[in-house]
This record gives sequence, C-alpha cells and structure tokens, in this order.
Amino acid sequence: AADKERANNVAKIKVAVRKRPLNKKEIAKKEEDIITIDSNSLTVHERKLKVDLTEYVEKHDFFFDAVLDEDVSNGEVYAETVEPIVPLIFQRTKATCFAYGQTGSGKTYTMQPLPLKASQDILRLMHHTYQNQGFQLYVSFFEIYGGKLFDLLNDRKKLLMREDGRQQVCIVGLQEYRVFEVETIKQFIEKGNATRSTGTTGANEESSRSHAILQLVIKRSADGIEGAEINKSLLALKECIRALDNDQGHIPFRGSKLTEVLRDSFVGNSRTVMISCISPSSGSCEHTLNTLRYADRVK
Ligand code: ADP
Repeated sequence: AADKERANNVAKIKVAVRKRPLNKKEIAKKEEDIITIDSNSLTVHERKLKVDLTEYVEKHDFFFDAVLDEDVSNGEVYAETVEPIVPLIFQRTKATCFAYGQTGSGKTYTMQPLPLKASQDILRLMHHTYQNQGFQLYVSFFEIYGGKLFDLLNDRKKLLMREDGRQQVCIVGLQEYRVFEVETIKQFIEKGNATRSTGTTGANEESSRSHAILQLVIKRSADGIEGAEINKSLLALKECIRALDNDQGHIPFRGSKLTEVLRDSFVGNSRTVMISCISPSSGSCEHTLNTLRYADRVK
C-alpha cells in the first residue's frame, strides 16, 4: 500500500534540465556562460543588438521540476531523476528516462551511467524487498536508425515493431538476456555501443539520427503466486543518446519511429523523466532556447 501511494505521488512526467560546464573550445573562443541557475529556475541571458547597434541583454526565465547546475555530479543526476521511479516498476509501472538536446550538450555523458545505477537498485530490490517472489531481470538494447530498428545485442538483426492486443508496443524478435549482476549489464551495454551505426563519440550528422534504447525488464517466473509470467512490470530505461537532427530544429515526437517506440512511455501506467541537456555557451544560445522552450511545453 505504501508503494502504491508512492507511485501515485510521483509525477507522470518530470522535466529536468542539466547545464554542462563551458568546455576548452568554448573558452578558447571567448564564449561566455549565459546561463544562471537559482534552485528550480534558470535564466538565459541573451545578448542582442538594438537598431543603433548598442548591445543589450534580454533575459528569458524558465522553471522546471529540477534544474541541475554544472557542478552536479552524475550520481546526483541519478538521485534526482531515475532513482525515484525505479521502485515503481515492481508496481507494474513502466519507467522511462531519455535525454534531449543539441549535439555536444551532454546527453551521452548524462545517460550512460543511469542504466547501471538503475540495475544496481533493481537487483537490490529483487534481493531484499522482493526476495523469493520470483522476479527476474532481463536486458535488451536496440537502435533506431534511419527509421529502422536494429538489435544491438544480436548482430544488428533488423527488428519489427507492432502493437499487441492490449495496444502495447511490442518489438518482434528483440533478444532479451537474463542478467544476475550489474557487471554483466555493463558488458552488454559496451557490446551494444560498439555495434551502433556510429561510435559513441563524434558529433556528426550521422550520429544525430541514431537513438539507442536500453530496456531493463523484470518478469515474474511461473512459480510466483500469480502463475503466469508477468511481463507488465517493465522498466524501459530509454537512452536517446543522440541529438535529434539539429539542422531541422527540434523534431516533434509525433510521427517519428522514436515516438512510436516511446509511445507506451507516455500513456497508461507509466512514469517518464526527460532530461534536457544544455550548453552554457553564448554560441549555443539559440539552440539552448529551443531546447528549453521544447522542455517547457512538455511540462
Ligand atoms: P551529446 O551526447 O549530447 O552529443 P556528450 O555527452 O558527448 O554530448 O558531451 C559532449 C562533451 O562534453 C563530452 O566530452 C563530455 O564528456 C562533456 N560533458 C558533457 N556534460 C558534461 C558535464 N556535465 N560535466 C563535464 N563534462 C561534460
């Protein structure tokens, strides 16, 4: 009952923004930090020119569920975003986390540690709070690239997506591996990353069209009380570690393969955290404002 109550108290969608520090290149170019943060509010100080060419600063204020400054560690990001929704997957709730923002804004840096920390907590819950209840943990990892789905843990096998009878999105043929420890998950993630259409680094046109989605699924074996395997208690930790195509501005979620796959994460019994990643630099001002306005609409 306490768990149920907690589930109800966690917002259906939480929007967090994470600012990264200025990097060496930006500092070398004498770009300035134009983002200030005060608890849950964030201000973009946009430099503009009047018609007589005198400079002025236009301030844009935003408020989000969480605003994570450049000195916030990955551990603190986890605590603020994914940690609260992890226990809910044992209450048949699907939990999703994804990152959003321009290339180089920190999506990979932000997302990569999260599945490991989440699986650590899931395994702990399975071994303690839910011990002897027949829960098993499975991992799968796939990529959306050029509108097609590829299994990153099974030689890039092409996958198809369809809706099952209960209008749940289902990825046909996706290989799921049962895992017992975090180390194994780490190895699967490394293997999957190496199999991606582009490497995990390199901010180029190609990588911005690739989205990687890591799923952690808990199932209940047949000797649990319920009898049949419960596939509903599902954690889908979704890793969109590449930017949406910058050149076309921000692609709306509707109508893309990514959205279709993520659809389950926004409807029904689900909790979603979106982490918008932003650069602090003056040179990224326009991108940053786009990202924040997008995030603002999701709230
Ligand atoms: P993206 O995945 O959005 O293209 P990355 O995560 O690859 O961006 O980040 C770009 C660079 O900035 C990387 O070198 C990364 O290590 C660094 N970086 C990103 N976020 C942070 C942060 N919060 N603190 C320190 N370095 C960061």
